[in-house]
Amino acid sequence: MRIDLLTLFPDMCEAVMGESIIGRARKKGALEVHCHQIRDYTYDKHNRVDDAPYGGGMGMLLLAEPIAACFEGVCAQLGKRPRLIYMSPQGSVLTQEKIKELAQYENIAILCGHYEGIDERIIDAFVDEQISIGDYVLTGGELPALVLADALSRMAPGVLSDDVCFEEESHFSGLLEYPHYTRPQVFQGESVPEVLLGGNHGEIERWRRRRALEITRRCRPDMLLKASLTPRDLDLLEEWMDGGE
Ligand code: SAM
Repeated sequence: MRIDLLTLFPDMCEAVMGESIIGRARKKGALEVHCHQIRDYTYDKHNRVDDAPYGGGMGMLLLAEPIAACFEGVCAQLGKRPRLIYMSPQGSVLTQEKIKELAQYENIAILCGHYEGIDERIIDAFVDEQISIGDYVLTGGELPALVLADALSRMAPGVLSDDVCFEEESHFSGLLEYPHYTRPQVFQGESVPEVLLGGNHGEIERWRRRRALEITRRCRPDMLLKASLTPRDLDLLEEWMDGGE
């Protein structure tokens, strides 16, 4: 997978995408991330990338021309057109389902807005979809773009040590994940659940599934209503509701 970020703050994006799991994945070639400075594509002798909106009103807008030229530059580098996503509070709210869908694309470009946003003609002519990270407004698209880029990156083959890592996680299969414990065995008088110490993999799997069902029912009952549960899941839930171990 290759992700191209179009931004006024490439250093901010590079700093985040250069660390930890994603940084290591980039070094070993499992993932490509390129951060492009939109300002490098301005036609203006003062390198301006923004102007006041027609019709008046508060704030500045990112100009269409440098964004278009930056995106065309990315297309030229790739030799093809990537899917272009504009991070916007007006987009559809990001979910793990959307991440799974977008992870199928080999090339994704993410456009970060700033100020009041971008000239609408960029959205009409270039943007394939708009994605929001929630119903609130941030100052710029960099944090939302990094959220999307991180979630996409960890689905790329070879980025995590094992694909099972994300398949069992919250939201992937419509449930929240079971709880985890590590050393010490006893912390402030609280011990790790006995079943996890016994080495019986069948029992551990059963316990984890039941805890995942319980936690989802308690924290996100809306998710449980939509999840595709097996007859065994229903038995496990019933067992829990009857107070069984
Ligand atoms: N005037 C815009 C509106 O009311 O819809 C908000 C612009 S916001 C201050 C500046 C930029 O931050 C946007 O262009 C977008 O790229 C980004 N942004 C802000 N909140 C966001 C969110 N919830 N999800 C995704 N991007 C967001």
